[in-house]
Amino acid sequence: MKIGALKEVIEGEARVAVTPSSAGHLQKLGHDVFVESGAGSRAGFSDEDYRKANVTVLGNASEVIGAVDVVAKVRVPEDGEIKQMREGQTLISFFYPAQNGELLEVAKEQGITAIAMDMVPRISRAQKMDALSSMANIAGYRSVIEAANNFGRFFTGQVTAAGKVPPAKILVVGAGVAGLAAIGTSTSLGAQVYAFDVRPEVAEQIESMGAEFVFLDFEEKATDGAATGGYAAPSSPEFREAQLKKFRELAPQMDVVITTALIPGRDAPVLWTKDMVEAMKPGSVIVDLAAEKGGNCELTVADERVVTENGVVIIGYTDFASRMGAQASELYGNNIRHFMADLTPKKDGVIDHNMDDDVIRGATVAHDHDVTWPPPKPKVA
Ligand code: NAD
Repeated sequence: MKIGALKEVIEGEARVAVTPSSAGHLQKLGHDVFVESGAGSRAGFSDEDYRKANVTVLGNASEVIGAVDVVAKVRVPEDGEIKQMREGQTLISFFYPAQNGELLEVAKEQGITAIAMDMVPRISRAQKMDALSSMANIAGYRSVIEAANNFGRFFTGQVTAAGKVPPAKILVVGAGVAGLAAIGTSTSLGAQVYAFDVRPEVAEQIESMGAEFVFLDFEEKATDGAATGGYAAPSSPEFREAQLKKFRELAPQMDVVITTALIPGRDAPVLWTKDMVEAMKPGSVIVDLAAEKGGNCELTVADERVVTENGVVIIGYTDFASRMGAQASELYGNNIRHFMADLTPKKDGVIDHNMDDDVIRGATVAHDHDVTWPPPKPKVA
């Protein structure tokens, strides 16, 4: 089959769905690879790099869509992109079907198969295709780099001839994939790291990465906030109050706060309130990775860097993965080529869209003139 990557239409998006390196793997599966001219330029891959990898470079999106069987993208497709596709073609990209019902209908109408990389089931076998995790890992790392770039001091403690420097104190709120990456990056830069999560089972992971678990002296702690499937549920008002009380104690002591708390299908919980920001020292930095979902910090403005009156920097960027376009494209490109390997079991360039396969079924949101989202629960845990 023929697979082709489009240039992302959203301004500032640096990622690309197929890299010269992932193209090689796709070719080993028996596929011919195409790319829109300039698709990789913002991630550092020139048209020439693709040509050297035996990829056919075409002039524009219409030409790629016209030439291929599988269209690969990073961002949620625009309505117009799907409308250019023809019956029987496959689209593989982030899709967020819960938020994009109308787009699902367009895919159904058009008779295309839409594979949502954000819907890959989070089971062990599918980890290599888990684009949410690969992008969250990058976002967690990058949040620390952005914090360091905005913090006028060392992260590590130092004893120098010119004076003694204490280590920066960093609080990470939410210890999922992004939070754990932020903890790892912060400790490796020498900061003193504290972390909190409503799911008590992550305490061990937090501690094994060299951070201190912020313990909440609250009776229901063992169960409250932890839902099924490893995700968080909304906290009870009492739990939330206890959490905010603890954060109020910590606010004046922390130099950097990185928030990553999310609850599936809801707006991000507001956990770092205005008074906490006001209690922080001038020069402190907050990086809010939940900005796209409304933010964990009350004063976050999505896509902005805000400096408060008391000199606290609040970063609400929503494009952390794209800010590391080369790395993010490599990992996303790998997620896609692993998914393509599942779709091409015989490595003969023939796609077998096996809806009995949990991973393929879980990620397929439109197929054969039907909306196939939400999927049934996967059989393998
Ligand atoms: P996420 O992005 O949905 O949420 C980030 C974190 O915020 C979570 O750890 C959550 O508990 C926490 N949180 C929510 N409300 C909070 C609050 N009020 N205060 C503090 N923290 C709060 O999480 P994620 O990174 O997508 O990970 C979710 C789960 O999925 C985890 O259990 C993870 O281990 C699991 N997972 C499994 C796989 C796999 O098996 N392939 C891959 C990735 C993640």
